Amino acid sequence: MQELEGFKFSNPFADLPEDLFHKQNWTPFDNPKLIHFNEELAELLGFPKDLNAEDLVPFINGNKAFKHSVPLSMAYAGHQFGSWVPQLGDGRGILLGQIQTEDGLMDLHIKGAGKTPYSRFGDGRAVLRSTIREYLCSEAMHHLGIPSSRSLIMIGSDEPVFRETTEFGAMMVRVAKTHIRFGHFEYLMHNKKSELIPILLNHVIENYFPELRASKAGYTDLFEKIVSSTARLIAKWQAFGFAHGVMNTDNMSILGETFDFGPFGFLDDYNPGFICNHSDHSGRYAFNNQPSIGLWNCHALAAALKDHIEIERTKEIINSYEGFFYDELTAIFRRKLGLLVEQADDLKLIEEFLSWMQKNKKDYTLTFRNLAKEQDSLFEDDEGKSWHEKYQHRLSFEKTSSEDRSKMMTRANPKFVLRNYLAQEAIQDAEKSDFTKLKDLLKVLKNPYEENSEFDDFANAPPEWGKKLEISCSS
Ligand code: AMP
Ligand code: MG
Repeated sequence: MQELEGFKFSNPFADLPEDLFHKQNWTPFDNPKLIHFNEELAELLGFPKDLNAEDLVPFINGNKAFKHSVPLSMAYAGHQFGSWVPQLGDGRGILLGQIQTEDGLMDLHIKGAGKTPYSRFGDGRAVLRSTIREYLCSEAMHHLGIPSSRSLIMIGSDEPVFRETTEFGAMMVRVAKTHIRFGHFEYLMHNKKSELIPILLNHVIENYFPELRASKAGYTDLFEKIVSSTARLIAKWQAFGFAHGVMNTDNMSILGETFDFGPFGFLDDYNPGFICNHSDHSGRYAFNNQPSIGLWNCHALAAALKDHIEIERTKEIINSYEGFFYDELTAIFRRKLGLLVEQADDLKLIEEFLSWMQKNKKDYTLTFRNLAKEQDSLFEDDEGKSWHEKYQHRLSFEKTSSEDRSKMMTRANPKFVLRNYLAQEAIQDAEKSDFTKLKDLLKVLKNPYEENSEFDDFANAPPEWGKKLEISCSS
């Protein structure tokens, strides 16, 4: 216990000017109960090896304090669905502290922690349903190989929280390299605190890009890193069929990690116009709009940084977004198709495959997975057969054996993704205090490329009821 209390937090963010946050404690639940603890991640963060997760609960619920943590809620702003919102901030989150690890600095953030000065009209809480969705998805993304925040621990409560119906409150600890968002810089720029922008930029360089410390144009170099990591992240989302749902600038990490999971969804059938967020009436954040919204968000960031970065180079960087995106996308799709040789027409081959999948309402994940195995039975119609012939011809330029290729494709095409209906089943059980499905799902999603035939059911396309789930922003 002593060890836990003295756990080594360092808090460089808390040393920044106080305009950026509000130091505060948070609001505990009366009867917190442990739902899940991610031992593997805890070990990476340096928590004691023999830690009993129950001992950690009072520290997360807020009944006990870590001696070295400086808890705070962050101030930021952002563009929500394209409209400017001057004041957002952690309305239900607390940055508990930061930890220096082998992989660099890690933020520990409590989501669902109660009211803060930035809660506006909200109650500061998160419901069990949305907490489970985030907890599962951030781990699923990480193990797919997509940069993402992660989940350390989840606790539930009997505290009623009012949404469309009465639900129960929960908290989770999210671990991310940073919680600095595009919206942090927009906040400073639009709220006439521009003099703080270089301070925050220096903080980012100091802690995350030490190689830029000596650069003459460090802020512009940093902007380029942000643009390229954003473009590459979104290429990964597209390649794995992930729709984020709320790509507001306040949900964009400056380190290109997926975070702030709300009404996200993985594609079942390949439907590029898929809108996962029921509240997104115009389809601004539809699956196939994500790449251009990523660019839109980079423009918003450039506008916030305009007095600190070189304008001509900024224009060039913005123009490179598409190149960063397509380089990454093509590289991933080549692996998905088992191609090691690079040919100019590869993207066209991929596009034709996708178009065939769309017309035939093929399951995105399963179709790619099956391509690594039973190809002939996949293509029954003329268009499919003709694409298959082209693909076979293309493969004749490869030097790998078909066995090696099949292995490589199995490692590039997951069998398991967090389909909405699976999350929904885990939630329904958890609401009745049965966490078996949640635990099983976490186990499977940790190894999404393995056969794991014991869990074959989790690879299935959704049943009829699971195709029509409506997920909204209310969480
Ligand atoms: P999100 O859509 O989760 O990214 O949240 C957008 C903004 O609303 C952020 O400033 C959140 O902190 C805030 N927010 C969301 N839910 C709540 C809530 N239940 N109570 C207070 N603030 C909230
Ligand atoms: Mg958010």
